Amino acid sequence: MQTTNTKVATKPNPWRVLIAGGGIGGLAAALALARIGADVRVFEKRRHPNEDGAGIQIGPNGTRILQLLGIADRLKPDVTTPKALQIHDGPTGEQVAQLPLGDWLAQRHGSPYWVAHRADLHSALSDAVAAHPLIELQHGIEIEDTETYSDEVLAKSGRHVVGAGDLLIAADGLQSSLRQNRFGAHRPRYSGKSAARTVIRTDRDPKGISRDSVVIWLAPEGHVVHYPVRAGRELAVVVIRKEAESDQSWATAVPHEWAKNAVKDFAAPVRNLIDTSDSWRKWSLFELPPLKAWVDGRVVLLGDAAHPVLPFLAQGAVLALEDALTLARCLSDRDDVGAALQTYQTARSRRASSVQAASRRNGSIYHLDGRMRRARNVALTFSPPKRLMASYDWLYGWKPGI
Ligand SMILES: Cc1cc2nc3c(=O)[nH]c(=O)nc-3n(C[C@H](O)[C@H](O)[C@H](O)COP(=O)(O)OP(=O)(O)OC[C@H]3O[C@@H](n4cnc5c(N)ncnc54)[C@H](O)[C@@H]3O)c2cc1C
Repeated sequence: MQTTNTKVATKPNPWRVLIAGGGIGGLAAALALARIGADVRVFEKRRHPNEDGAGIQIGPNGTRILQLLGIADRLKPDVTTPKALQIHDGPTGEQVAQLPLGDWLAQRHGSPYWVAHRADLHSALSDAVAAHPLIELQHGIEIEDTETYSDEVLAKSGRHVVGAGDLLIAADGLQSSLRQNRFGAHRPRYSGKSAARTVIRTDRDPKGISRDSVVIWLAPEGHVVHYPVRAGRELAVVVIRKEAESDQSWATAVPHEWAKNAVKDFAAPVRNLIDTSDSWRKWSLFELPPLKAWVDGRVVLLGDAAHPVLPFLAQGAVLALEDALTLARCLSDRDDVGAALQTYQTARSRRASSVQAASRRNGSIYHLDGRMRRARNVALTFSPPKRLMASYDWLYGWKPGI
């Protein structure tokens, strides 16, 4: 790795952008940059497009960006707009709150709240990328190192230079090796919690399970979230529980007992729901304290590589979309790559830290025990639902300030 001065006198025409990582953040960045006329090359280490994952929630701050990127119409046939966010106490099964989503939230923010299968969002982005003449996506190439010069950055895979650009976006996810190499950042820390996901057909789900809302069942040792995906034909279910051991895969197969044990003290509808599937994939939940810098010369971090976020606010994918749009706006407005990347970092770092902190806080509230658990349930029961939802205006009302 080598870094030299990055000041360039005039704006390259067009920007030549390299992206390491063809996940949601990398593909969204490619589309946002191609819209400003950049020439984009995306390198994805997987050999094939990835169909992994289960549900993704996309708040109005994310669907607004999908509209801007021209993805919303592609994805729309596969999404559901959930009516509400239902919160239940897991052990008793009692519903403690029902917060409005649906039309109410869409009108409030001018864009809907969607739930989708992660693979459908990824495919919609991949299809748009494949159709775009300014973007080249190559699978099976892992970017392991970079070299920065005064006039360009080189992407290296093994000892081979695979691309040269004006900048390189490290969108290589939670365990980003480029973050590790270039920024010397600590590795993400295991949160002590793991999640397992499954998807079940809605014609098989048991009684007592809502199919038109996002539903959360809270308990001291963990929680369960489910919501419809694939236009309501399937239900994505995630079980989160405390666990001592971690691993780095997004898709470790775990036996049904893993999920069954996690909900053994939950009310019957949850236990019955968990019993409908014996196909569970686990991933460990990691945290990383906010980084001091997201930019090193011509290399910039984006998405989970910059700010891994716990899933308790369902904002991981959306933050990556926000990063993508912001970065493209910064580059379209400025001639100097260093200045553009610094503006991006300034615009995004506080926002990302706020979302990371709010997600962590939600996780603590979800897993309260004893008197605090009862106090939480009373507070949720007696708080006006619209006022509770309005307290998230700062999150869902985000617009690029650049
Ligand atoms: C397989 C998978 C399944 C997931 N499932 C869920 C889920 O069910 N629910 C949920 O809420 N979130 C899930 N996530 C996380 C969620 O998609 C991300 O948190 C969020 O979208 C942020 O996206 P990102 O692009 O920053 O990172 P990611 O989506 O993690 O994308 C990073 C991409 O970079 C690639 N990559 C890594 N290193 C390199 C390298 N050196 N060179 C080139 N390519 C590289 C990876 O293969 C990956 O495709 C999943 C992520 C992955 C990768």
